[in-house]
Amino acid sequence: MEIPEHKEIRTLARRFLEEAGPELKAYEEKEAFPWPLVERMGALGFLGVFVPEELGGAGLDFFAYLALLEEMGGYASLRSILSVQQSLVLTPLLAYGTEAQKRRYVPRLARGEVLGAFGLTEPGAGSDAASLSTRAHWDGEAYVLEGQKTFISHGNVAQVFLIFAKTDPEAGAKGITSFLVEREDGVKTAPLKGKLGLRAADTGVVFLDGVRVPKERILGREGEGFRIALATLDTGRISLAAGAVGLMQRALDLSLAYVRERRQFGKPLAGFQLIQAHLAEMKLDLEASRLLTYQAAWKKVRGERYTLEASLAKLYASEAANRVAYRAIQVHGGYGFFEEYEVARLYRDARILTLYEGTSEVQKLLIGAHLTGMRAFA
Ligand SMILES: Cc1cc2nc3c(=O)[nH]c(=O)nc-3n(C[C@H](O)[C@H](O)[C@H](O)COP(=O)(O)OP(=O)(O)OC[C@H]3O[C@@H](n4cnc5c(N)ncnc54)[C@H](O)[C@@H]3O)c2cc1C
Repeated sequence: MEIPEHKEIRTLARRFLEEAGPELKAYEEKEAFPWPLVERMGALGFLGVFVPEELGGAGLDFFAYLALLEEMGGYASLRSILSVQQSLVLTPLLAYGTEAQKRRYVPRLARGEVLGAFGLTEPGAGSDAASLSTRAHWDGEAYVLEGQKTFISHGNVAQVFLIFAKTDPEAGAKGITSFLVEREDGVKTAPLKGKLGLRAADTGVVFLDGVRVPKERILGREGEGFRIALATLDTGRISLAAGAVGLMQRALDLSLAYVRERRQFGKPLAGFQLIQAHLAEMKLDLEASRLLTYQAAWKKVRGERYTLEASLAKLYASEAANRVAYRAIQVHGGYGFFEEYEVARLYRDARILTLYEGTSEVQKLLIGAHLTGMRAFA
């Protein structure tokens, strides 16, 4: 169900992309972060869609956010910036932050004046995130953080980091606490270059070498960090699924335009049954993914548990986006193999979707655990 505000944000996004889409290409080629485009997205309210107006946001609902992610999904580096800022940083801040924390961080994040990052993954802890080894010990005056995070989106461009660290190493997942850490606290970072896709999105390593953080910067309660991480990822998975839907829509639109234009055997490719079969499968994957995404979103908005539905949407839409991008290249023939054609970038950008915020294998294990009541995780 779309209300006028959802249509409005779609229109705004389309207008923004008329110029920003082509501009993004140069940043992708240089693997450079598109700061001017981020500034423009901030000014349009794209970085704080569901944040209340009194906290600097656009004050719209979660569906408006998903509509925006769909529209931006074909430009995955930009979509990724929107998802990290809103699903991974603003969502937990709004849900678990104290009034003082919200006042300090939310308005600047929502307006895009600063960027935030979500620091869970470590070199030795990926899918098994609860095994993380970053430590935070209380020295009588502050928490002292020691450890390293890797693959962190916005690692080099963020000013605020949500860092997950062990305050009670003996307590396993229940000994993890989340901290709001500022770059000025002494965080050091290093870029990770050479990504297959998302080339204009920033990814980095985050070093925490004796970074001192006051008690007031714990997000939620001590020991609640892993629960916060999992709840955050539930929302993140719906937004990734929406981004995947947008990527599929773009791949289908480009393919339709191409097959109408390109002629072989005396007629447009669009007239061949096997080409139409590709297009039909693309459309089916796109619509099935959209329904799963909105099913999860409705449950979330109604306040029901939606962990299962978020995993179903993320698993299906991310795998489907890879199938659709593959078919888009197939119908473009050899031309699709060249970067000059946008489907080449869509194919590269689709690949990350089955990996981050829980791989496809992890989603299957979560769904399996829900169905059987037995966790197959070690
Ligand atoms: C571009 C990019 C951006 C990212 N951004 C962030 C970010 O902002 N913040 C953050 O915290 N992290 C981020 N990540 C990390 C991402 O979430 C992890 O890469 C992901 O969770 C997988 O962890 P891993 O890479 O260590 O793979 P591993 O966990 O080592 O997995 C390797 C393979 O083994 C499989 N596997 C693992 N365990 C099992 C099992 N029990 N059963 C079956 N198969 C299994 C996996 O599914 C995968 O196929 C990002 C990653 C990338 C590439």
